[in-house]
Amino acid sequence: MRSLAKTSQLAGVRPASRQGFLASKMTVIEMKTTAAKRMLETHLDLVLARLQGEADVPKTEAAGSDFLDVAQGVELQELAHLTASRLAERAKRLRDALARVADGEYGVCSECGAAIPPKRLLAVPDAATCVACQERLELARH
Ligand SMILES: [Zn+2]
Repeated sequence: MRSLAKTSQLAGVRPASRQGFLASKMTVIEMKTTAAKRMLETHLDLVLARLQGEADVPKTEAAGSDFLDVAQGVELQELAHLTASRLAERAKRLRDALARVADGEYGVCSECGAAIPPKRLLAVPDAATCVACQERLELARH
């Protein structure tokens, strides 16, 4: 009986709440990853559709997702003006970004290792660097 009480005590208070904490943290990371992956895949779909010369852009089932709606609206306006070579370049960048999602490196600046702000990722889903590093790289190029 004593060992039973001890077991239930162990399973009860602290270990369980610690597990709960870890589980909820994991879920947040997984949700972020899933959202990033879906956003990138949506953009990639649009780019590939444009590359194939399809007049109609595929409709996403993501109705109700403001996040994707906004991203898609911006992307559509932008894509309409891109040439085939720019579209192919964009597709490659999006695939690279998807690979970074799989590696858990998405949203982290490849130059300084800082977290890239969600706002920037929303505007530039395939961004591999933070704004500061991007500006530094562009200055170096000129
Ligand atoms: Zn950086």
